[in-house]
Amino acid sequence: MAGFPIEYADRIKTLPPYLFAAIDEMKQKAIARGVDIINLGIGDPDLPTPAPIIERLARAAADPKNHQYPSYEGMLSFRQAVAGWYKLRFGVTLDPASEVLTLIGSKEGIGHIPLAFINPGDVVLVPSPGYPVYPVGTGFAGGTSHLMPLEKKNGFLPDLNAVPKEVARKAKLMFLNSPNNPTSVVMSRDYFKKVVAFAQEHQIIVCHDAAYSEIFYDGQRPASFLEVEGAKEVGIEFHSLSKTYNMTGWRIGFAVGNRQILNGLLKIKSNLDSGTFQAIQEAGIAALQLDDSATDALRKVYQERRDVLVPGLKKLGLDVDPPPAAFYVWVTVPKGYTSTSFTAHLLEKAGIVTTPGNGFGAPGEGYIRMTVCTTKERLAEAVERIKKAGW
Ligand SMILES: *Cc1c(COP(=O)(O)O)cnc(C)c1O
Repeated sequence: MAGFPIEYADRIKTLPPYLFAAIDEMKQKAIARGVDIINLGIGDPDLPTPAPIIERLARAAADPKNHQYPSYEGMLSFRQAVAGWYKLRFGVTLDPASEVLTLIGSKEGIGHIPLAFINPGDVVLVPSPGYPVYPVGTGFAGGTSHLMPLEKKNGFLPDLNAVPKEVARKAKLMFLNSPNNPTSVVMSRDYFKKVVAFAQEHQIIVCHDAAYSEIFYDGQRPASFLEVEGAKEVGIEFHSLSKTYNMTGWRIGFAVGNRQILNGLLKIKSNLDSGTFQAIQEAGIAALQLDDSATDALRKVYQERRDVLVPGLKKLGLDVDPPPAAFYVWVTVPKGYTSTSFTAHLLEKAGIVTTPGNGFGAPGEGYIRMTVCTTKERLAEAVERIKKAGW
């Protein structure tokens, strides 16, 4: 049988080129040569999930009532735990029944939300460099991403005034992300107030991604978008247990805020997935009810690592600021290099994997991203190796 040509849909054919493929190949070659790779490329916590969460999962997994289909919107008890955590952490009141939605990780909700609100040709405002799911989810819904460049001269915040009037008029939805991946920059309450005014003026749904809200340094807690007046009228906020509790593999997150917006997302989800395993939601309740000591310990570890890596890089003459939050370090590439060539240089000459900034969108050119998801000893060694390799 000859078969027939298997043809992919345009939405797959037009996906942006996989910029990390070349780096991956180089990494595999280096590993094959026996190079001891220091991986500063991954944004995935290296520490284990706290024990009480694992214990709760084990107990809940043994309970037959958890073996059946969960509800689409999530267990009320999990959503109540989310509302309780929101009140305590941000002073924001949420109705667990209508203003909280359980997700299979926040990536799932972020990727699906455009399907609920975007018609072919509609415009979505997307920060760039940024999490690739924003433009890809937009594209899967047939929408067009209008990139809002994150530039040093604006403190790496989207410049809302720079969005052309006719684009703002056409835009239906905007993604924002604070603390930010990949720049680590945090949005202030004043900035969020401007976002609410902008969204009201142009009737744009705000989708704020707060996956890193609990990874912060020097005691400076990032705000929730929902803390500012009017936010719940225009938007929702995505959260994840992934980074806060070292639970990236567990796949649980949630969205909170405007009930009509959440309803749209639920309509899509209830036709595509069947909710989150109840035992994992129970473990999520245990996570959200932990006191601050678990997250304090995590923050302390990341802060110590940051304080090895950033001053070390600065001493070598690299242009880099200590991040106020998240676990990313956004480094300007030295003169004579591009994002890609500096990433290649660090891998070839120092055995260090980093991520080229342009992999997060064209405005990320001129930067590389390093993570502190490895021990401070390895980070110190990375600095030593870069010193030896030079540039
Ligand atoms: C890690 C991350 C997420 C969270 O992903 P989950 O699907 O919840 O694991 C969301 N947004 C950004 C920007 C991230 O870096």
